[in-house]
Amino acid sequence: MGETFIPLADLRYAADVPRIPETALPPGGLLADRLGRPLRDLRISVTDRCNFRCSYCMPKEVFDKAYRFLPHSSLLSFEEITRAARLFVAHGVSKLRLTGGEPLLRKNLELLIEQLAALRTPEGEALDITLTTNGSLLERKAEALRAAGLRRVTVSLDALDDTVFRRMNDVDFPVADVLRGIDAALRVGLAPIKINMVVKRGTNDHEIVPLARHVRDAYGPGVILRFIEYMDVGATNGWCMDEVLPSAAVVQRLTEVFPLQPLQPNASGETAARWRYLDGGGEIGVISSVTQAFCRDCNRARLSTEGKLFLCLFASRGHDLRTLLRGAYSDEQIAAAIGLIWGEREDRYSELRGAGAAAAGSGERRVEMHYIGG
Ligand code: SAM
Ligand code: SF4
Ligand code: SF4
Repeated sequence: MGETFIPLADLRYAADVPRIPETALPPGGLLADRLGRPLRDLRISVTDRCNFRCSYCMPKEVFDKAYRFLPHSSLLSFEEITRAARLFVAHGVSKLRLTGGEPLLRKNLELLIEQLAALRTPEGEALDITLTTNGSLLERKAEALRAAGLRRVTVSLDALDDTVFRRMNDVDFPVADVLRGIDAALRVGLAPIKINMVVKRGTNDHEIVPLARHVRDAYGPGVILRFIEYMDVGATNGWCMDEVLPSAAVVQRLTEVFPLQPLQPNASGETAARWRYLDGGGEIGVISSVTQAFCRDCNRARLSTEGKLFLCLFASRGHDLRTLLRGAYSDEQIAAAIGLIWGEREDRYSELRGAGAAAAGSGERRVEMHYIGG
């Protein structure tokens, strides 16, 4: 049974103020959580607002005119985000993903990208900086993003058919505008581009093959299409298992038209399982968060728009880094606090859910996707 919609004026999540260790810890250095997982990937939500109302993420019934988004003063400033990112990088993070809400709605985002692009790993390497967007503003912004130092983008695109796409975004937004955004991103060299399709059985699963065909024909191997299982994130989307199309079925449907062969992962901790078209038409990915948990390799942390650090997509509580960033704490103290938080991490929600564990969640309201950004 799916959960029913819970209309709310706003959603706020509990967060603990992190402890600053009394004994000095090294301000940087690689971390390992209780399951031995390193911290490599930081996802930064830059806004909780969005111009779409995808029913699996921000259903209109909940995120309506009465819903109160975060006030501007609550948001981390670009300087605060960059300072936090620098401390995470010292702890082993080499990949930053900007997300939201819709990240391109955040004013002057290019300035943040410029600041982040100037950061270096302890080995002196530039960071892998990327952004996940619904593509609605990409045509206008691609060039400035590239110039600011963004390397690549992931564009969410749930259907090729205009009617289905408008139904998925639920604000009647035309698919042609997103396709023009992808073209613009390719033109300015934001590559390789990944396209994410969330598959909802009975709603857009008939678009799997047409979208794959379009990506192969129009873009070729430079664009990677990834199919995401519809997840039970948050508590507002009315998720039910009947609407999940397992990735195995996606691969089966595709391979009947375009035969596929599995590929080795590029790196440990990669969320998508890779497949290549046997005819050389490129590769696709499937993200099986529901049917095949990948918690064992999960090296991702998420920083919410207002500076709460979440250690799992399905968490209910965060760690209030903003209080530290706005308090009289040194970089060393904050870095040590981050080290403590990661060291105590033992989250593995999807794995427990897959094993049928009733204790998969704490029973508290789980954080919403638009708030921590996926
Ligand atoms: N607004 C941007 C976008 O849509 O690309 C970035 C934020 S969005 C929350 C990040 C990703 O999460 C998108 O690719 C979206 O499709 C995915 N997503 C949101 N809700 C989901 C759900 N219930 N299950 C699976 N993926 C989801
Ligand atoms: Fe907005 Fe992205 Fe969520 Fe859709 S998935 S409602 S575009 S934040
Ligand atoms: Fe990582 Fe949590 Fe997802 Fe598992 S459920 S892969 S721990 S974010």
